[in-house]
Amino acid sequence: MSPELIFATAIAGAAFLGGLLWARKRGPKTRNVAHKGRRDAPTPANLRYTCAGCAGQFTHSRRTLSAREKGAKSFYCNACHTRSLTVPKPKPWQLVPGAKKHKKAEQKAEQKADKKAPR
Ligand SMILES: [Zn+2]
Repeated sequence: MSPELIFATAIAGAAFLGGLLWARKRGPKTRNVAHKGRRDAPTPANLRYTCAGCAGQFTHSRRTLSAREKGAKSFYCNACHTRSLTVPKPKPWQLVPGAKKHKKAEQKAEQKADKKAPR
């Protein structure tokens, strides 16, 4: 592996990730626009739903309705939804309580008294 190849691979990976994020950002928008034009979207008889996060009663929004169309069984209110977006799920390695930083107990604990030993 030459350094040029590694550099090129890194650039390609970054570009791919950027494009992926860009596509994901734009995805729901276009989908919503497409959904707007469609008239066969089934509306639930009961516009209320129970939030799966805080168990509160909320009225269906466009987001929960689109999720329902996709076959979602549980819905989250806006607060729980944004919280799930902003707070990422903890990674497995973050749950491991290891790597505790303990202070060095032996800070020159053994001072050599021999140094000041009288002749
Ligand atoms: Zn909630």
